[in-house]
Amino acid sequence: MKPLEGKTCLVTGGARGIGRATVIAMAEAGANVAINYHNSNGAALELCENVQKMGVKCKVYAADVSKEDEAHDMVQEIVADFGPIHLLVNNAGINRDRTFMKMTRMLWDEVLGVNLNGPFNVTHEVLPSMVEAGWGRIINVASVVGQTGNFGQANYAVTKGGLISFTMTLAREVARKGITVNAVAPGYIETDMTRDVPAPVIEQVKQMTPQGRLGRPEEVAAAIVFLASPKASYITGQVLAVNGGMYM
Ligand code: NAP
Repeated sequence: MKPLEGKTCLVTGGARGIGRATVIAMAEAGANVAINYHNSNGAALELCENVQKMGVKCKVYAADVSKEDEAHDMVQEIVADFGPIHLLVNNAGINRDRTFMKMTRMLWDEVLGVNLNGPFNVTHEVLPSMVEAGWGRIINVASVVGQTGNFGQANYAVTKGGLISFTMTLAREVARKGITVNAVAPGYIETDMTRDVPAPVIEQVKQMTPQGRLGRPEEVAAAIVFLASPKASYITGQVLAVNGGMYM
């Protein structure tokens, strides 16, 4: 029997990058998967078809997680299709980088809307049924930047630092209800998010990373699935770094 057989997992932003790799890894571990997407309809559908071939149940759900009503409707639909959600991966995220002097209120609000309000909206919808079931796993995708800060990323860093505090706080609140809440903090990972980072900056990142390379989405997904697995039952409120040693 696979470790997550019979469990239902929701991955936000599941059509691309780390979310996509997580969807596949969850399915490999036997979980049924609800894929949330915002813009990537085609990629979500293609991924879903492939996941179904792996022998688990899979469906796609369009929703902008920054919108409370869309998060609400999405979770209602998933529960109608799959039953209660056991595993939640708050992965959806964006960056809108500027030095703080040039950062507009709009760029600030946009990033907080997706990266912080998104996890609030979705977790708020999912948590009551986990409490009722007396079991659940929540994994938040933070970032090394939330631990160190980063030039040009005041908006992004504050959301990832906030997500780490959220993880620790929620972990304390639900620990006696059979629910664990953890975060992963990836370093620089090869996805669309880092594709446009200028080559000299990537070189600098590699130099700052003891392993001397960027990470792969699958390497983050493996950490997420571990935190979701029965083997991680006594781990809660933790931030698992997946960063090649960049920050330790
Ligand atoms: P990515 O390839 O750019 O993917 C971002 C994902 O977020 C997409 O699936 C996108 O969905 C989804 N998304 C964006 N806005 C959304 C919204 N309003 N509602 C629902 N989904 C939304 O980036 P990634 O690297 O995989 O990032 C995934 C997570 O890892 C993010 O939280 C990011 O901050 C974090 N992270 C990434 C790195 C890195 O180096 N790549 C490092 C540390 C942390 P659509 O395409 O459907 O719009």
